[in-house]
Amino acid sequence: MDRFSPDKRHEVMSRIRGKDTKPEMIVRRFLFSQGFRFRLHYRKLPGHPDIVLPKYRAVVFVHGCFWHRHENCRHFRLPQSNVEYWENKIAGNVERDLRDANRIADMGWKVIVIWECELERKTRDEVLNRVATLIKGSCEGIGAESCPG
Ligand SMILES: [Zn+2]
Repeated sequence: MDRFSPDKRHEVMSRIRGKDTKPEMIVRRFLFSQGFRFRLHYRKLPGHPDIVLPKYRAVVFVHGCFWHRHENCRHFRLPQSNVEYWENKIAGNVERDLRDANRIADMGWKVIVIWECELERKTRDEVLNRVATLIKGSCEGIGAESCPG
């Protein structure tokens, strides 16, 4: 795996397609540094999760607070115009997120969701360490609701 691809064009193109966004890169770099190996945008699972760890049967979604409606988050604020359009669009995203997460969980995989705002410098280390613990099997902390039992 080439994790330090310095190809600028690729980076720019990726951003346009909405993949390889910065928050996701933070998570990927951390996991890789901790020895985790993963697949990206795995097509065999519903919703093509951002990061898939087959060895642990775990998937990680990195959600943007706006596009995925992070409730009570200061990053989630609907635009003042075209309110109805945005409401519908984002409601559709949220519905799809939920459906995909449930399907993946039904297939026996662990679903971990990280919000963009949790990756701010202040909380980043703590959140990432909890994610690593979750992937390895502990069901404390974020995503606990998707753990069995
Ligand atoms: Zn947020």
